[in-house]
Amino acid sequence: MKMQINGKAVESYSGEFFYIINPATGELIDQVPKGTEYDVEIAVEAASSAFNCWASTSPQQRARILYTAAGIVRQRKDELAILLTREQGKPFAESKNEIEGFANVLEYYCGLASSFHGDFIPVPQNGYSFTIKKPLGVCAAIIPWNMPALIMAWKISPALITGNTLVLKPASNTPLTNLTLASILSEAGLPPGVINIVTGPGEVVGESLVKSPQVKKISFTGEARTGKRVAELAAGGMKRVTLELGGSDPMIVCDDANLETAVSGALRGRFYNCGQTCTAVKRLFVFESVAEGFIKKLEASIRNLKVGNGLHENIDMGPLNNCRQWEYIKELVADVEEKDEGRIVAGGRVPEGSAYSRGYFFEPTLVVDVQRESRLLKEEVFGPVLPVVQVKNLEEAIEEANNTCYGLGASIWTKNIDRVRTGCEQLNAGIIWINQHLKVAPEVPFGGAGESGIGKENGPDALSEYLDLKALMLKI
Ligand code: NAP
Repeated sequence: MKMQINGKAVESYSGEFFYIINPATGELIDQVPKGTEYDVEIAVEAASSAFNCWASTSPQQRARILYTAAGIVRQRKDELAILLTREQGKPFAESKNEIEGFANVLEYYCGLASSFHGDFIPVPQNGYSFTIKKPLGVCAAIIPWNMPALIMAWKISPALITGNTLVLKPASNTPLTNLTLASILSEAGLPPGVINIVTGPGEVVGESLVKSPQVKKISFTGEARTGKRVAELAAGGMKRVTLELGGSDPMIVCDDANLETAVSGALRGRFYNCGQTCTAVKRLFVFESVAEGFIKKLEASIRNLKVGNGLHENIDMGPLNNCRQWEYIKELVADVEEKDEGRIVAGGRVPEGSAYSRGYFFEPTLVVDVQRESRLLKEEVFGPVLPVVQVKNLEEAIEEANNTCYGLGASIWTKNIDRVRTGCEQLNAGIIWINQHLKVAPEVPFGGAGESGIGKENGPDALSEYLDLKALMLKI
């Protein structure tokens, strides 16, 4: 596939390409241009030239185009889901869910088309005051590989409906679904230049985008370390940033929780997308009094998960997305074994057999009696390994849960309303779930505290991330 600049499919000025590999089979799926700083300049110029015209259309006109695009995405959802599974690795059902999520987010923001406008503010003595809201101009969207379609929707929907234009940089492992979705937006009537896609390495394409003087805002999703680099570069131009970064979400299972539901929640919370979700359950704290029964049920359920190529039938978990991630998970588990920092009761190995021989597969893994100093509790474990720690009570659970630099999500599993209130007040997280984990909705603000980032996506508040608020004061 080619990049998309000014409504056209183009190659890079470098003339170079890089390869997209299926993480389940090792097969070559496609190649995409290896973009350069010059390609970014051209794309930013295209977005800049398209800005005045797009910004002067009514929000309702923009909504009609986005709504049409959502309709095409729904019609083509199976084909898009297959493409997403081939480049990302997740099971087909999860891909379908993500593609539907893309359409849902687009449609949600179409519904908000009439909602963002200034206010009239009476001011004593000075007469009248008004506020107006204007789009910012060219925005940059930088996307990770774990949920490329959904995260694209979280960024482009509020940006486009408010009248901004965009240059998007997909993750180098998963650009194909993003490119296809962008071509659907063009097919739906999005004018040339309103959305442009430049593929290529983060250090080149991502950094040039962030540094470009014409780019007014950067919305970045990825690792905390990369987010800090983006923030540093953006500070040079005093640009607006939204940073959606990593997490190490705790799940707290109290002694009064419905253990069956909590087991299903932990299973989905940890192993969905092969554990590569920012808000996955990355540390599980269970009350000592129910730990034995809970762990037994959890272990049995984990052993039942079927691992394989996401395009095959009845697969619960696909491979990790890339070799770096795969090596990291293997090394982490080996480290736990070597240092005796936990007991592996399920999984812990690369599965054997020809079906797994060319992919980045790892067994769904349960580690219990995890020592507090283990890397499993200190790092963001972006893969299918669930560490379980026993705690005496809620106070200890919350103290342990908050013992991280991250603050993305957290869940508490209980029927007791006092515990719910305590958890909501004291857990340091941008989103707190009760008796569930992982659920997101276009209507609900999403974003973390601490090193999990700055700013929110989803919900009406995300619109203001893409609008400039001006005040007018009138003396009559
Ligand atoms: P990553 O390595 O930080 O990459 C994210 C994006 O940034 C990619 O497009 C990457 O390009 C680009 N990039 C790399 N270096 C850059 C630089 N110096 N300047 C500008 N852009 C640069 O993250 P990832 O491994 O793709 O994604 C996994 C991480 O994302 C996890 O930490 C996860 O928790 C987090 N995440 C957070 C959320 C949230 O909403 N909070 C959601 C999903 C994922 P290349 O692909 O070319 O390197």
